[in-house]
Amino acid sequence: MSYLVLARKWRPQTFADLVGQEHVVQTLHNAITQDRLSHAFLFTGARGVGKTTIARILARSLNCLASDRVTATPCLKCSACLEIADGRDPDVQEIDGASNNGVDDVRRLQETLPYRPLRDRYKVVIIDECHMVSTNGWNALLKTLEEPPPHVKFIFATTEVHKVIPTILSRVQRYDFRLLPTKQIRDRVAYILTQEGIRFDEDAVMLVAREAAGSLRDALTFLDQVLAGVEGELTGVAASRLLGIANRGLLDTLVRAMLTGDASAALETVGMFAREGFDLPNAARRVLGVLRDLVVARVAKDPDALLDLVDEERAQAMDLAKQHDPADLQRLFTAWAKVTEDVSRAREPRWVLEMAAVRLASRPTLVPVEELMAKLVEMERRVAAGAAAPGSAPARPSSGGAGPTGGGAPTPTVQRPAPTVGAPAGGAPKFSPPRMSTAAAAAAPEMAPAPVTAAVRPVPAPPPPKVLIQNTPRVSQAPRPTEAAESAPVVASAPVVTVDVSGAMGAMDAWRRVVDAVDKTLVPVLKGAVPLEVSGEAVRLAIDLRDSFFRKKLATEEAQAVILEAASRVFGTRPTMELVQGTLPDDAPSIARLEELARQAERAAKEAVLRAHPLVQIVVEMLHGEVAKVKLEGDPD
Ligand SMILES: [Zn+2]
Repeated sequence: MSYLVLARKWRPQTFADLVGQEHVVQTLHNAITQDRLSHAFLFTGARGVGKTTIARILARSLNCLASDRVTATPCLKCSACLEIADGRDPDVQEIDGASNNGVDDVRRLQETLPYRPLRDRYKVVIIDECHMVSTNGWNALLKTLEEPPPHVKFIFATTEVHKVIPTILSRVQRYDFRLLPTKQIRDRVAYILTQEGIRFDEDAVMLVAREAAGSLRDALTFLDQVLAGVEGELTGVAASRLLGIANRGLLDTLVRAMLTGDASAALETVGMFAREGFDLPNAARRVLGVLRDLVVARVAKDPDALLDLVDEERAQAMDLAKQHDPADLQRLFTAWAKVTEDVSRAREPRWVLEMAAVRLASRPTLVPVEELMAKLVEMERRVAAGAAAPGSAPARPSSGGAGPTGGGAPTPTVQRPAPTVGAPAGGAPKFSPPRMSTAAAAAAPEMAPAPVTAAVRPVPAPPPPKVLIQNTPRVSQAPRPTEAAESAPVVASAPVVTVDVSGAMGAMDAWRRVVDAVDKTLVPVLKGAVPLEVSGEAVRLAIDLRDSFFRKKLATEEAQAVILEAASRVFGTRPTMELVQGTLPDDAPSIARLEELARQAERAAKEAVLRAHPLVQIVVEMLHGEVAKVKLEGDPD
């Protein structure tokens, strides 16, 4: 006896046999029993989810000779039932839209339709992949679709319903087929294996079911593939090797290693993927699926509705997810999504996967803000208690550690340094009492609490410390031309002069007054110029030849007229105007440069105050970390 592939051997023969698509089956069943069937059906959905199977069952329901009318329970024994199963029934035509898209084919079909069926009740035309039928083909068919003879039924099936022309869509009864849940496929695979007398373990059926991704036909194809390669029991290990895909256990191992910061184990697991010859892009995609499930398990109110997992897997996912911060899980998912893309493009996917696994296992863990805030409040209480001398005023009450709460929003978190590679990271950092000098302790209550991040504000706080910086720092000595400036390239065809800017700082105050008197639009340009002399007699400005933007803007007569006009208003005289072009030292003073220096100095001073704040130092010590970055109010995120 020749070997019959499982997908064909176990193709359901009746509505009762069907796996999945309960909504479609129910509707069809009702329509049949109440005898109000449409003359044209459109079955849409992914491949391998039962469209053709249901089309054939429907054809049998229409034509079963054992019944004197359409029946939801065809007999499977009459010649119509048998011939439809074999594709031999002369009144039931199955057409592959992909190969019969020519006008002639459809016209030939169309010509036979007006005639009564040879034997059956109905002429049934099943057109698979109907989106491939050409527009001309459809036009040939349209006449029959508009005024169908009572003895003709059409069943169209397609995986791409958006490609079916609207004229057709409006004339058919549409049924949307869904992907099958993994559990349903798993049950069917297990049922078939049992019926075939093949021993198997749970890993094997789950691997096949999951890889099928909702398509029962794919599941049975995979099953055929692995059964051809095993003798005796079908195990998960054998199935994963034969299909070249990593089994769930290995995927879980990798995910757990990354979650707990065990870079060594993560690396070994990827190595195992490679040694077993698994398809690495596929493995990466499946790891992404595992991470997605964890986020859902951790965040969703009703995860069961969103998780396509069997009971045991679901319990494991829920258990693992609740041990980890949702923000951390999301972060891992996002990072791995990128890895999945990279791996599929990489020439050496193994290396990409290995480095990604190590990097993510070594990622800095997150400390929930609530935890950090509770500590800060506690710290502040201690600082205050330490400062309050006996008999003096009571220390400021703590705010009680009320954290920010949000409806299901991910917890904002603060980074803390990376765990040691290879060592599983624990939960919260160990609390260690801060060592503080008496001076710092005494000073602390008077100082404003430092905003560590925008989110951390333990107590209602006065504004952050104000640092006064003189807006115009006096530069006592004029900057000298630097080596870099002297050797800098110059624009050809212009006389190359290294401009002496030693008078610039002296001229700066007068220059500011002139610029203040100028109309707004030119101000940014003027701020970039270096004043050599600015007085009632002369305005001499230097611009760098390399800076063509400023040169163009300033060298116009219009610009110079504006400057002179402003200068004459400031000085009450009519000074001469000169524009000196040449090479300027990189640090030649202009208003713009001085303003930038002042900004930098102000920022540095503010940062220094914050870094030196006792509370910041305590937090740094508690977390064994360092201040990586200071974010001031108004900084972009
Ligand atoms: Zn029959």
